[in-house]
Amino acid sequence: MAAGEPDTECLFCKIVAGDVPATVVRETKDVIAFADINPQAPVHILVIPRAHYANAGELGAVAPELAGTLLAEAAAVAAEQDLDGGYRLVFNTGAGAGQTVFHVHAHLLGGRGLTWPPG
Ligand code: AMP
Ligand code: ZN
Repeated sequence: MAAGEPDTECLFCKIVAGDVPATVVRETKDVIAFADINPQAPVHILVIPRAHYANAGELGAVAPELAGTLLAEAAAVAAEQDLDGGYRLVFNTGAGAGQTVFHVHAHLLGGRGLTWPPG
């Protein structure tokens, strides 16, 4: 499967296709943002490109313009969610870092004080 092509086994490709339901909070032609099913903060939204890339590194290497679009869309979601006090974007990359869905996604976390460093 080539980078950028849909993966029929991928959960987030199924959400993009509308085959798995999600609570979508913002969408554009390239990006969708939806509520995480197991939120770790009062605001926990996943921001993903519609196209399938395994992780942030692959996205940045193969489709850098789309990577920039993803970051801009994450900021737009944060503004819509009134996260003026700050928010955190996380790209878990690899199983050892907790990545469980291998379709790149930014975790947008906010709505409470966020400690540093994370676990
Ligand atoms: P990661 O562990 O970084 O790969 O993040 C995957 C995220 O997807 C986790 O935070 C899960 O809670 C979330 N997740 C899994 N299934 C769904 C779903 N059907 N809808 C929304 N979020 C999901
Ligand atoms: Zn996918």
